[in-house]
Amino acid sequence: MKRLPILMYHNVGGQGRSLNVPPQALARQCRLLHLLGFRAIPLRELIAPLQEHRLPPRTVVFTFDDALLGVYELARPLLRAYGWRATVFAVYHHLGGETEWASHLRHRVMSQEQLTALAREGWEVGAHTLTHPHLTRLPAEKAYQEIAGCRHELQRLLGEEVRSFCYPFGDLNEQVVQMVREAGYHVACTVRKGLVHPHSEPLLLPRVPIAYSDGALGLLYRLLRAWRHSR
Ligand SMILES: [Zn+2]
Repeated sequence: MKRLPILMYHNVGGQGRSLNVPPQALARQCRLLHLLGFRAIPLRELIAPLQEHRLPPRTVVFTFDDALLGVYELARPLLRAYGWRATVFAVYHHLGGETEWASHLRHRVMSQEQLTALAREGWEVGAHTLTHPHLTRLPAEKAYQEIAGCRHELQRLLGEEVRSFCYPFGDLNEQVVQMVREAGYHVACTVRKGLVHPHSEPLLLPRVPIAYSDGALGLLYRLLRAWRHSR
């Protein structure tokens, strides 16, 4: 039975261990996946296969939430060495600034220019709202503005369609999912753990979170555990 992992990262080579992985760990994880015969594609390349309830074989998707600077500086060259492209989820109003939604440590966010450069190299820029709120705690009108406004601004910045979304904090309910659909997104990532299967709901995709201390073996362990849970 076919399953596909969407890996969830935040920063690479940033400060602290929270929402961060060392570049050496990401390098080892890429090497392992390459040795196992995997290739990596951006999330948008799953839209068509999922509509037909099929999945590309031996494929992973790298997602980097919050479009943090370390991803531009360190993950980009690492993935490029394999000819791979990934998806970053941008918080539009924080581009060029810092994360203000994580409780303690702040991470630097890519600039609009860096995000545009990534998009030109074939990386996918997905939307992660305007300000990273808890969407279920907002009045409906404000939540829709966060969801649709981010898509609108990113499309204007990049000059291309934005089809992927990621729920801040994984916070969602039925109404929020409906808004994401109405705003025109085709796929959306949650923080629910698991692997994608051919009949996964495209707006409720599970992921495999990667932590600071995961090297190649850590990745393998997480993949096997997610595989067991999703059979
Ligand atoms: Zn986030």
